[in-house]
Amino acid sequence: MADPASTRLPALAPSRRPNLLGMSMTRAMAEGFDFVAMGRALLKEPGLIDRIRQDPGVASTCIHCNRCMPTIYRGTHCPIAQAGS
Ligand code: SF4
Repeated sequence: MADPASTRLPALAPSRRPNLLGMSMTRAMAEGFDFVAMGRALLKEPGLIDRIRQDPGVASTCIHCNRCMPTIYRGTHCPIAQAGS
């Protein structure tokens, strides 16, 4: 029989909070999550990880408007970022 500790699956925390994203990540990791998932935040701002490294309290500029969703079949992108916002 397998040791339950050896079969533990990695825990993934979603990062839906647009504000204080870095602090949410730090808290999630401190609470036992192995990963923090980011999708739209990185779509909006590919350099976000570098900003978080410099300032863990930084806010994501993704506004969770989901205007990127219709673009998934023709080259996923953030229309907000392309508009320069
Ligand atoms: S379209 Fe809206 S939800 Fe999608 S990445 Fe851009 S700001 Fe975020």
